[in-house]
Amino acid sequence: MKNIYKTLSIVATALLLYSCNEKKLTEVQVPLPEEEEKNVPMGNPADVMANEGTFKMLPLPYPYDALQPSIDAKTMEIHYSKHHLGYTNKLNEAIAGTEMEKLTIEEILKSLDLENKTLRNNAGGYFNHNLYWASMSPKGGGEPTGALEAAIIKDFGSYSAFKNQLTEAATKQFGSGWAWLVTDKTGKLSVVATANQDNPLMPNIGVTGIPILALDVWEHAYYLNYQNKRNKYVEAFFNVVHWKAIEKRYDDSITKAPVAPTP
Ligand code: MN
Repeated sequence: MKNIYKTLSIVATALLLYSCNEKKLTEVQVPLPEEEEKNVPMGNPADVMANEGTFKMLPLPYPYDALQPSIDAKTMEIHYSKHHLGYTNKLNEAIAGTEMEKLTIEEILKSLDLENKTLRNNAGGYFNHNLYWASMSPKGGGEPTGALEAAIIKDFGSYSAFKNQLTEAATKQFGSGWAWLVTDKTGKLSVVATANQDNPLMPNIGVTGIPILALDVWEHAYYLNYQNKRNKYVEAFFNVVHWKAIEKRYDDSITKAPVAPTP
């Protein structure tokens, strides 16, 4: 009996040594799959064109890899060239030959019939993603300034209180959806969340406001890099928030107080 174990252990050792040698040879001769993937060139966002239709792909304001490490290049490429392109094409199909071809995307959203699910998903998807790309920049991060900073302090107490509210809205949104910073016409800010591709401009969806910052919390926006850790993605989003653009959107959205007549 003892001899059998001895023989078995010798055979097992021999097999182990053999497989180690094999592995060593394999590693030397064949490039690792990850190395090969790294060598695949990224596509160019400027080459992504919508099919013929009213709405075009708005140019991505930076290359796919510009937001790394916060948002990885592969996620950006798939998100823009596949998901966003899909919403754009389906929006165009949904409005082809109708009066809606003459409307802006904001007008389509504001006059939307919520029962029109195809239009609801794709008009929302088109607008939401355009605002999402514009809400980020490789030179982003930091904190807002000017009128927006003052309004954040007035309406949330502090920048960090606002950040907590947006983080909570983004992480607690169940399933796919969006977290938003919105303003009303008087400049009052709030943080809201919507499901799927819904948008605060749509009538009767339970939230209102003019969106000035959009944060995509669909899994396709972060899963390759962050897997189930949506909170890590949201944390990283703050490193690339394009406050300068959001400040401008805020200033443009509010009705300016009438100038007092000079005597
Ligand atoms: Mn998305």
